[in-house]
Amino acid sequence: MKTFKSPNWLNESLWFVRDKRDKTIKNIPEWEELREEASNIKAHTITHLDFYLEEFEKNALKNGIKVHWAIDANKHNKIVEKILKAKNAKKIVKSKSMLTEECELNPYLEKKGYEIIDTDLGERIVQLAHQKPSHIVLPAIHLKKEEVAEIFKQKDSDASYLTALARKRLRKHFESADVAITGVNFAVSEDGTIVVCTNEGNADLGTSLAKTHIAVMGIEKIVPKLEDLGVFLRLLARSATGQEITTYTSFFKKPESEKEIHLVIVDNGRSKILGKEDFEGALKCIRCGACMNTCPVFRRIGGHEYNYVIPGAIGANLGSARDIKKYGKLSFASTLCGSCTNICPIKINLHEQLLGYRSLYKEQVKENKDIYYKIAFWILKNPFVYRSVFWLAKFIPYSFYKNSWGKKRQSPKLAKKSFKDIYESL
Ligand code: SF4
Repeated sequence: MKTFKSPNWLNESLWFVRDKRDKTIKNIPEWEELREEASNIKAHTITHLDFYLEEFEKNALKNGIKVHWAIDANKHNKIVEKILKAKNAKKIVKSKSMLTEECELNPYLEKKGYEIIDTDLGERIVQLAHQKPSHIVLPAIHLKKEEVAEIFKQKDSDASYLTALARKRLRKHFESADVAITGVNFAVSEDGTIVVCTNEGNADLGTSLAKTHIAVMGIEKIVPKLEDLGVFLRLLARSATGQEITTYTSFFKKPESEKEIHLVIVDNGRSKILGKEDFEGALKCIRCGACMNTCPVFRRIGGHEYNYVIPGAIGANLGSARDIKKYGKLSFASTLCGSCTNICPIKINLHEQLLGYRSLYKEQVKENKDIYYKIAFWILKNPFVYRSVFWLAKFIPYSFYKNSWGKKRQSPKLAKKSFKDIYESL
């Protein structure tokens, strides 16, 4: 597949979303108050999580929802598999859930012979391309429509045509699926309701047609009261895509007759962050993706360059919290400009956490960088060497065999006259 992009293409696409968000929030004079309120609600909830999780479970059970607890990804996958076995299920339709990505549910079930179909359009595209999502809200943002046409084996790359084609093909899967899996955006403690937000209605169609609905959520998805949704739903849609409201906001409270709702509540390392004053704020995240759209690093490198399931500033923090040795280096993929913190609807101090993880990483992972500094010093000290290296650097991204970075990117065009030339000619 041809994957060259113009150097600015991803940057422009993501900035378009960020700009839309900026325009939409101008219509909400109380935006900053909403952010403050959301941050306070989440701070209260995560510091009383034991109480709210138990209250939520009690109410969900009372409503007829079957509740399961998973300590880690493996347990989560096993619980889902057990439900599928009990239902004699073969085909599963799944709406977007970053938790199932985190637990690697698709490969787990596929190995066991289940057919699992992602039904969110972006997720379906990356599933067919055998790729991972590059963004938590816009999973296929890294692909152009011509590439999508190629994945769909079509010549026509018109976006409406491709969307209609995907809808037609997916409908067959919706009609024949045994089980529908969804994520959860919010779980309301006071009455045991779960809330799922999508723009395509795929979660609703899947759960309406299948007899069994399996919802999966991290322990941090709890909000205490129904009225709290008035704060979070207003923040979520506007921050994620600049919409006034997510197109489908569905409340699941109890199963219809002859149907079942199972809910898997997953820890998978989240409770390790609890009580760590400098870092537990990451558990407030509502996965809007705004910190990715605004990040100058993310907009240039894209989500696939992060080696953690969630990219961007929040992903670097969550990854570092999970395993500082494996993911701590991600905290350096930031300019620390603070744009992520400024845009976050829950006011998570993302860039400060990144700085904290940098220190932790340096404490725990000893890297000997002396040799690199010595080389840099030598280059900077010798003007001729400096100029030669700079000239050579233009070709480096394309000069190595199997250079995955250069293979997918074009260097920006250099100006005909360098700053030095202009300066010298003055
Ligand atoms: S950290 Fe904030 S901006 Fe980033 S995804 Fe979470 S809620 Fe959105």
